[in-house]
Amino acid sequence: MWAQGERAWGICDICGERVKRNEMAPIVIKGKTIGVLACPSCWSEDHPQNWVGINMPPTRIAIRNPRPETALDSAWAFPPVPFETYSKLQGVSPR
Ligand SMILES: [Zn+2]
Repeated sequence: MWAQGERAWGICDICGERVKRNEMAPIVIKGKTIGVLACPSCWSEDHPQNWVGINMPPTRIAIRNPRPETALDSAWAFPPVPFETYSKLQGVSPR
């Protein structure tokens, strides 16, 4: 059986101050408690910066049997061949 905590005291794991045990809260990093109980002045929520890189989509996704863009506008934006070759083949000139 555990004490109910209204009169229980606890020592903050961060600053060492004596505070009521029921006012202390666990420190959470990346959604998991790390076994540290903190007083209200030392406690801080799980910072979003801790989650950087956790939920990132994979960066390199290979495409099986890819096809290049053939639309004229995308060809202008990223010509798959040198412009001179492209313009001779397509009969276009710079805008
Ligand atoms: Zn503290």
